[in-house]
Amino acid sequence: MSKIDWIKKEIEGLQNAGLYTNIRTLGSAQGAWLMVDGKKVLNFCSNNYLGLANHPRIAAAAKAAIDEYGVGPGAVRTIAGTMDLHIKLEQRLAEFKKVEAALTFQSGFNANTATIPALVGKGDVIFSDRLNHASIIDGCRLSGAKIKAYEHNSAESLEEMLKEHLSEYKRALVVTDGVFSMDGDVAPLDKLFEVTKKYDVLLMVDDAHGEGVLGHGGRGIVDHFGLHGKVDVEIGTMSKAFGVVGGIVAGKQVIIDWLKQRGRPFLFSSAMTIPDAGACLAAVDLLEESTELVDKLWDNAKYFKTEMKTLGFDTGHSETPITPVMLGEATLAQGFSKALYEAGVFGTAIAFPTVPQGTARIRVMISAAHETEDLDKGLEIFAEVGKKMGVI
Ligand SMILES: *Cc1c(COP(=O)(O)O)cnc(C)c1O
Repeated sequence: MSKIDWIKKEIEGLQNAGLYTNIRTLGSAQGAWLMVDGKKVLNFCSNNYLGLANHPRIAAAAKAAIDEYGVGPGAVRTIAGTMDLHIKLEQRLAEFKKVEAALTFQSGFNANTATIPALVGKGDVIFSDRLNHASIIDGCRLSGAKIKAYEHNSAESLEEMLKEHLSEYKRALVVTDGVFSMDGDVAPLDKLFEVTKKYDVLLMVDDAHGEGVLGHGGRGIVDHFGLHGKVDVEIGTMSKAFGVVGGIVAGKQVIIDWLKQRGRPFLFSSAMTIPDAGACLAAVDLLEESTELVDKLWDNAKYFKTEMKTLGFDTGHSETPITPVMLGEATLAQGFSKALYEAGVFGTAIAFPTVPQGTARIRVMISAAHETEDLDKGLEIFAEVGKKMGVI
């Protein structure tokens, strides 16, 4: 037995259970249609909600930024200095989100692993929604604080836990996803805020799937609930609706100042690249100029979801453009995804451990890049495959 044989066995086990992820190769830019493994298919997979990933203005801004500043930031910001481009982006993001200050990271994942351990540590407690994203969970683990999971989207469950356990710890943080990425449901942030206010504990929301989607013109979940100035920390990503890549922390100035001193991915990892920063600035400009793309995204999502329900599909309880098509067993979801691809739709199967066992699904991501004809084509193929496989 070689020392890596166990890995081969594990992989075989995943393959047999229908849980092994085969990554498709894209031969074209992001958009409504994609070349996937050499075949042109309708794109129902990306988080490119607003179609900005290949938007001419965003691409031009990235090129212009390269012309002025080059490509790389040089080193970590605390050592090599910080470019005015990044500072400008952070100021624009803070204005856009109506917060005191914002800080950027290479990714949303990094933003979570920077922020949580900077706010709580050993002897402290984190109350975390049971279905929070992996990057929140990892941030919580890295912090060394005690983690207590409350029932999904339940302010009542959170309050019970606070009542029972808060006094045992020094400090506390409540953390939730804004939009839950696998089901598309939205955290009851107004109710969570009331509870955290009553118990005087920090509230943090990770709005990765709400950034550019929820709220006025895509200003996110805090705007959606009208909670400006009340949520202590908002995490966001520029890797989804913004169409680029990067993470954001937005909130009170003192928290941003603290992250620049104690956020490890800020102190020990370089800044976003220059084309990313330039492109993100252009994305903020676009969103501030018009709500057209956000409105189109929601119109498309409503249309697609209504038609899917009429066809007889179970689309769960999504409140956002994320449209889970519930199938159950992982092997069924994988077979369904394969049949969709053959018929011309790119829709990946999502199974355990990304979602609980027995709740495998195809997660359809609707975007503003889709036209009604595209959605109709997708519906036609879903109906065809769904009937063939006995799902509807
Ligand atoms: C996608 C996602 C992230 C990670 O964002 P990246 O910028 O891709 O690293 C973090 N949190 C949540 C809730 C997400 O959905």
